[in-house]
Amino acid sequence: MSEFVIEPPRPATLPVKGTDSRFPVRRVYCIGRNYAAHAVEMGHDPDKEPPFFFQKNPDNLIVSKEFPYPAKSEDVHYEAEMAVALKSGGTNIPVADALAHVYGYATALDMTRRDLQGEAKKMGRPWEIGKAFEKSAPITAIVPAEDCPSMDSGSVKLTQNGDLKQDGDLNQMIWKVPEMISYLSDHFELAAGDVILTGTPAGVGPVSRGDKLVVTVDGLPSLEVTVV
Ligand code: MN
Repeated sequence: MSEFVIEPPRPATLPVKGTDSRFPVRRVYCIGRNYAAHAVEMGHDPDKEPPFFFQKNPDNLIVSKEFPYPAKSEDVHYEAEMAVALKSGGTNIPVADALAHVYGYATALDMTRRDLQGEAKKMGRPWEIGKAFEKSAPITAIVPAEDCPSMDSGSVKLTQNGDLKQDGDLNQMIWKVPEMISYLSDHFELAAGDVILTGTPAGVGPVSRGDKLVVTVDGLPSLEVTVV
C-alpha cells in the first residue's frame, strides 16, 4: 500500500547551469513595483510605498521556448525580471547576512494577465488570477552565485520582435536583493528552494501570439520565448 492516497504531484524543479542536478522549488515570491520608473508608469508614487509581494506557484515556472497565450485575457503583458534562488532561509534575516542564503540567479518573465490584474486591483481582490496562472513564469537555468558577477548592477533588457522595450539596470531597484530577502524573512519563514522574482523595469506592454521575447540580464543566460 502506498504512503499516499493519490499519486503525489511531481516537485517543481529547475535546471542548474553546469550540472545535471536540478534545483527544487518550494515557493515563488514576487515583488511589485520595484523600479521607480515602472511604479510611475503603473500610476504610483514609488517614494511613498513600502515593498509588497505576491506569490506565484512553483509549477508556474517553466523552462520552455514557448509561452502559451493564457485563457480569459486579452491583455497579457511581459515583465522582464531577475530571479534569485535560495539555498537556505530562516526568519528575521539581517540585510547584511541575506546574500549568504542565495544559491544562484536566473533570467525570468513575470507574465501577467493585466486586464484581470486590473479588475482585481479595482475590486480590492487578490492578484492570483492575473499573476499565478499556468506557465506564467518562463525562466532560464539557474546560475550558481559563485559563477555570477555581484548582481547588484547590470542591465536588464527585453526586446519584443527585436524592438527594445525594457532597458533598466539592477541598480535601479528600490528594494535591493538583500533587503527583499530580509523583509520577506520578517513576514515569512524563508527556506531552501524559495525563488524571488525581483521586479521589472519600466516599459511593460502587451504581447501577441507569434511575438518573440528576448530577456537579457548581464551575467546570466538570456531567456528567449515565443508567444504561441
Ligand atoms: Mn513583476
